[in-house]
Amino acid sequence: MSLQFGPDYVRAIAPYQGGKPISEVAREFGLDESRIVKLASNENPLGMPESAKQAMIAAMAETGRYPDANGFELKQAITEKYGVPQEWITLGNGSNDILELAAHAFVQPGHEVVYAQYSFAVYALATQAVGGKAVVVPAKDYGHDLAAMRAAITPDTRLVFLANPNNPTGTFLPAADIDAFLKSVPQHVVVVLDEAYNEYLAAEQQYDSIQWVRQYPNLLVSRTMSKAYGLAGLRVGFGIAQPGITDLLNRIRQPFNVNSLAQAAAVAALNDKEFLSRSAKLNADGYQQLTRAFEAMGLEYVPSFGNFVLVKVGNEDGAGARINLALLKRGIIVRPVGNYGLPQWLRVSIGLPEENEAFLAALRQVMAEA
Ligand SMILES: *Cc1c(COP(=O)(O)O)cnc(C)c1O
Repeated sequence: MSLQFGPDYVRAIAPYQGGKPISEVAREFGLDESRIVKLASNENPLGMPESAKQAMIAAMAETGRYPDANGFELKQAITEKYGVPQEWITLGNGSNDILELAAHAFVQPGHEVVYAQYSFAVYALATQAVGGKAVVVPAKDYGHDLAAMRAAITPDTRLVFLANPNNPTGTFLPAADIDAFLKSVPQHVVVVLDEAYNEYLAAEQQYDSIQWVRQYPNLLVSRTMSKAYGLAGLRVGFGIAQPGITDLLNRIRQPFNVNSLAQAAAVAALNDKEFLSRSAKLNADGYQQLTRAFEAMGLEYVPSFGNFVLVKVGNEDGAGARINLALLKRGIIVRPVGNYGLPQWLRVSIGLPEENEAFLAALRQVMAEA
């Protein structure tokens, strides 16, 4: 018998499947990198803000030194923006780090973690990594069924993950529903409200989750710099919660989990209102461009509040993988979501107008061939 390392629950983990890198698709399909369009990872098609780039260049001179372990300036920028004390902030190597820290801090083997079907893959990974028992609550109209999620909470539950808007489906929970849910959750359960796409919400959907952090000691709000702020490659996110939660996360995080270039860029990006509003506008226009075309093609899609759209490309279970492969051959990278239990669908990130058009043109071709 061969030697097996680690606990069963670690060996059972299926690795995260990310969007394919441009260089890999170029190699695999013999394509020219410059002609490949990547709409697979919900990145900002504008790239990083110029303000962040300048801040990184200035910070480069000091990269021989360790970063500020407390991230003072970045926390200061967050403090100013959200009106919370520094003691309520945890910085993360991407918000993925925050999600994992929450699982490590609050979940032991055998404890239950509640999250929705078709929600972010990292919830399952973070749960499994600590031996937690995943309680996956069936989705309602591709989104979270909060009543069913509440009903799934038991004395063994330690953590609940909510994503608003949700990835990969793009669904949105109105503020009143989340508030009612938070009120109903027992105090021993920590709720992570993952707001990775918050900056894309239109004015009429915006809500104040920080007010809930003041109200609920068991709430952790998670934010990322990877999406609307355009810093996915730098890996910065943050959590906001009262000290009862934040203290613990800060004890178990790596002391230098956010590097100095990332900290400098994040400060600049957080203060760059112009970039953020330009990104949101580009996204709203791109959403119209994509969804109008889907309607014209007779394709079903899930109305999205993020920077991506889930679209149904066929009725057979292989449809997503089949269309994805045909698109890859044409240099278009989107995200098949069979691993999410959505094998008939593709998730496409909203890109620049010409990228969206290249995707739509390729999609029309491959759908016509099918
Ligand atoms: C992209 C994403 C994140 C995390 O991204 P990071 O780059 O790790 O900050 C978190 N939650 C959801 C729902 C996401 O889609």
